[in-house]
Amino acid sequence: MNTKYIFISGGVASSLGKGIIASSLAKLLQARGLRVTIQKFDPYINIDPGTLNPYEHGECYVTEDGAETDLDLGHYERFLGVYTSKANNVTTGKIYHTVITKEREGAYLGKTVQIVPHITDEIKRRMLLLGRTGEYDVILTEIGGTVGDMESQPFIEAVRQLQWELPEEDVMCIHLTLIPYLNAAKELKTKPTQHSVQTLQQAGVKPDVIVCRTEHPLSPELRRKIALFCNVRPGHVIQSIDAWSIYQVPLNMHEEHLDELAVRKLQIDNYAQPDLVRWRGFLDRLAHPSHEVEIVLVGKYVELQDAYKSIQEAFVHAGAAHDCKVNVRTVQSEYVTEDTVAEMLKGADGILVAPGFGERGLEGKICAVRHARENGIPFLGICLGMQMCVVEFARHVLGWPDAVSAEVDPKSPHPVICLMEEQKSTTIKGGTMRLGAYACRLQPGSLAATLYGRTDISERHRHRYEFNSAYLTDFEAAGLKATGHNPDTGLVEVVELPAHPFFIGVQFHPEYKSTPEHPHPLFTGLVDAALQYHNDHA
Ligand code: GLN
Repeated sequence: MNTKYIFISGGVASSLGKGIIASSLAKLLQARGLRVTIQKFDPYINIDPGTLNPYEHGECYVTEDGAETDLDLGHYERFLGVYTSKANNVTTGKIYHTVITKEREGAYLGKTVQIVPHITDEIKRRMLLLGRTGEYDVILTEIGGTVGDMESQPFIEAVRQLQWELPEEDVMCIHLTLIPYLNAAKELKTKPTQHSVQTLQQAGVKPDVIVCRTEHPLSPELRRKIALFCNVRPGHVIQSIDAWSIYQVPLNMHEEHLDELAVRKLQIDNYAQPDLVRWRGFLDRLAHPSHEVEIVLVGKYVELQDAYKSIQEAFVHAGAAHDCKVNVRTVQSEYVTEDTVAEMLKGADGILVAPGFGERGLEGKICAVRHARENGIPFLGICLGMQMCVVEFARHVLGWPDAVSAEVDPKSPHPVICLMEEQKSTTIKGGTMRLGAYACRLQPGSLAATLYGRTDISERHRHRYEFNSAYLTDFEAAGLKATGHNPDTGLVEVVELPAHPFFIGVQFHPEYKSTPEHPHPLFTGLVDAALQYHNDHA
């Protein structure tokens, strides 16, 4: 069988959840026994989102091979349980960078370099790249942005060309739109969808299926109307009604026959029904929890829901594993002080101090760590959160009030967190952190080793600063133990307080690897400890 390509575009509004629709369809095809991956093409000019403020773009997701990517790749991995890579996220910036580099090398032999065909050729090359590896039966490609945007035009043009160049049975185009409900008229309106599909067709792309985001069910008449005006078959108008969980969407799409439409259009002989037993099991547990805990997430980007996406999702997975609803309450670290901390963290059965960069909100994070440490509240610190455990301990247990991370004050007399050696010569900001998967060896008998159930692990990273090993003996003598190290460099990756019921800081990002079917042991561990704490303090 040839590799099959499914393109997903969007119209009417942004944030309709193209990533969730792509992930859901991919999940269904995978559950039918196909080898599937998803890639995202983003129209912005940044090479990757690594240099973007989370307020701009939500969380930056990191892959095994160290790519800083769009957060939709997190959804792809969580739904499919397979790793993505650098090749799965392409931006306009990357496309132009390649073309301009080739031009400087003289690769275009004196020709005028143009959007069509040179930019579109490079887009097409990248769209087909993962298909050429032979590792996948189906490649789903999500086109970022909204049809009609000036920026996404070259991507849509590339899809148009591929729709003609590839055999008809190897390409499918899905367009996701919004059907708004006018409360005053008590009516669902199809006009924006008609216009959006017109725009797509003017660009030469003919959708095979229209997926309609809606708050209310679409009647058969409405579906027929959309089909008529949008030039698709009536059965090819699908409703995606607001779901109680994003993880319910694959089941909703299956009920709407989206996967069946795909296997028919793509002439895939494998008509087996999707095997969703484990997925349904997860959803059942998620829907009917018998316990409840509150975890306070202390971070500085809390105003934006998507800024800590993977952490939030990891709690969903870990909660379901424990039959427990995890209420994640976010707290703006800037407002946490010694005077406010008790009040702001009241009711917390567990505390997570989030990753981050720069000085803003750091003192609040330190207060939150201290509150967890002194009150025996289950605690997990991730990346900057781990670094703040170290600073807090240095200040209040070792008695070094000037202890700080060199990120804030490189001249501090007690730089307990310092710049990694390899970072000292780095001046360029993009793509230069310590990124992606590294091995870590855990101390036998440590909390971490107990939770993971083994001593050799691998986790993903995104940082420039590290635990300053010059102070290791001081910390360990006073009770903060380094229980995880990089086996090659000795870098400290995990710190723990054995005297505390559950207190662990990790330099890596466990949240990136948590999935519904494989919840992460550090998150399930934290939820378990939070449940215990909750029951003890009820
Ligand atoms: N700013 C810290 C560093 O660069 C932590 C990074 C993070 O939390 N991802 O080391």
